[in-house]
Amino acid sequence: TELSQIRNFSIIAHIDHGKSTLADRLIQFTGGLTEREMSAQVLDNMDIEKERGITIKAQTVRLNYTAKDGVTYELNLMDTPGHVDFAYEVSRSLAACEGALLVVDAAQGVEAQTLANVYQSIEHDHEIVPVINKIDLPAAEPEKVKTEIEDIIGIDASDAVLTSAKSGIGIEEVLEAIVARIPPPTGERDAPLKAMLVDSWYDPYLGVVILVRVYDGVIKKGLNVKFMQGGTEHLVDRVGCMNPKRIDLPEIGPGEIGFITAQIKEVEQAKVGDTITTVKNGAPKALPGYKEVQSVVFCGLFPVDAADFEKLRESIGKLRLNDASFTYEMETSAALGFGFRCGFLGLLHLEIIQERLSREYDLDLITTAPSVVYRIQLSKSKTEEAATIELHNPADYPDPNRIEEIEEPWIKAVIYTPDEYLGPILKLCQDRRGIQKDLTYVGGRAQVTYELPLNEVVFDFYDRLKSISRGYASFDYEQIGLRPGDLVKMNILVNNEPVDALSMIVHRSVAEERGRGMCERLKDLIPRHLFKIPIQAAIGGKVIARETISAMRKDVTAKCYGGDITRKKKLLEKQKKGKARMREYGNVSIPQEAFIAALRMG
Ligand code: GDP
Ligand code: MG
Repeated sequence: TELSQIRNFSIIAHIDHGKSTLADRLIQFTGGLTEREMSAQVLDNMDIEKERGITIKAQTVRLNYTAKDGVTYELNLMDTPGHVDFAYEVSRSLAACEGALLVVDAAQGVEAQTLANVYQSIEHDHEIVPVINKIDLPAAEPEKVKTEIEDIIGIDASDAVLTSAKSGIGIEEVLEAIVARIPPPTGERDAPLKAMLVDSWYDPYLGVVILVRVYDGVIKKGLNVKFMQGGTEHLVDRVGCMNPKRIDLPEIGPGEIGFITAQIKEVEQAKVGDTITTVKNGAPKALPGYKEVQSVVFCGLFPVDAADFEKLRESIGKLRLNDASFTYEMETSAALGFGFRCGFLGLLHLEIIQERLSREYDLDLITTAPSVVYRIQLSKSKTEEAATIELHNPADYPDPNRIEEIEEPWIKAVIYTPDEYLGPILKLCQDRRGIQKDLTYVGGRAQVTYELPLNEVVFDFYDRLKSISRGYASFDYEQIGLRPGDLVKMNILVNNEPVDALSMIVHRSVAEERGRGMCERLKDLIPRHLFKIPIQAAIGGKVIARETISAMRKDVTAKCYGGDITRKKKLLEKQKKGKARMREYGNVSIPQEAFIAALRMG
């Protein structure tokens, strides 16, 4: 296709503002789908994506649109991941486009996520076409939203396209605006091949499928290509695009987006952001912007039923086939048995994996408290050299005497909220060691910027924010690097024995409060025994919180069995089953449920 007839764009929107519905309409209008096929949203494939309204894997569809000028254009619509955890993937998807539709709900206006995404889009020099959606709603105020877009984002919204994706209003206007306002890509057909690996996923029939954006040159079947960052060579055996059904193509030329397969077995070999060139006469320099993805949040995943361990191993392996950004290694815990220490891009990523394991693989799991990655400077000891280590499991906390300094990751968070909830939100941020950076009002809403330690955010921050704002506050963040902090390891002791699964790294200033909370919860969760049980939170040898479970009187058990033999049998059976899920700590039997409940903060 001629460069002048190609348009590459993405759609940016806050969750629920209508991105998927609009995408489906564009596909339908250009003839990619029949009314019947429209019934299911096309771009979001996974159940979880649909439910949460986020995209995890970038999908791209090619639309052929004959515009009012009589020319048929090739429009490549790239669906970008919709969450900050996938910021790097988003940045690569955006880099593959020349423009973006900015979809804003006519009744809700601009939200935090809209902002974060639109700024990225601006950074990529995109031409941005504002689309004000849901104009069918009685509460729609398109003029007000236009002003908001101009005031908050600072782009001209006077010729924003007004749509109702639901009722199919304004769809052709959107297509015309794409053709007229988004610039065509540039590139040279005769130059050495330069294509960016935008995304990759595992397909059970095709193996690893790679989404590419070609800058220069041409990709064809039979071509020997080299991944410049990964350092591997592959034979291209299929070239195509989605419309949204898979179509084979003879080639993908300059400026175009499409997919290839090349007999690759693992997604790990197809790194997002890599540059693909030819083995012979390849490009001398890779495209800019490549980054190795790194796990930000870690936690342990254990099967509730120890017999499920093999099933967990298998299921995790399968998920990993499709998601190279998720890491795991085996872990053993005295409290929870065999499981895996897993690394994630962020909290949402963690939740998605956890949910998929329980839903798609029917696994009952215990998740230990999420932890961030700390950098620790260790001094020289008698037997060991000075060193810098990365800590992502409290169990590996080194000898405190050797610790010179601990650094923790910080984030810059932008919260957008109706101003009636501002007070409690500021308090929440303050309680989580936040530093306020900015506070502005737009209309009836406040936008507040905080710097926060990531460690305080993984600790139930989202849930709190949602509950104190009744779901109205939106939240977005970016990482801003490591800062030193007074961080300590807090152990929880039951009958004087530490429980590994419950230990955590905390800031000294909040340790006592967290410790007290944990002890109180455990007091209610651990059944009484025939003796008194102390429950303590301690830093090193120093106890900072304590609760005691009093002893049970002996006759209590005898009484409740009574005479009924079947009832007695049932009770015994239940006890036996319960036994399997008990762990012994300093002679105390702790039911598995107690760990689960204790780990569920709140
Ligand atoms: P996304 O999260 O941005 O992908 O949003 P969706 O496309 O999934 O839409 C979120 C919700 O808004 C769904 O219930 C849609 O049916 C609804 N919706 C989308 N567009 C419109 C519209 O133009 N008008 C109305 N009333 N509802 C819409
Ligand atoms: Mg969606």
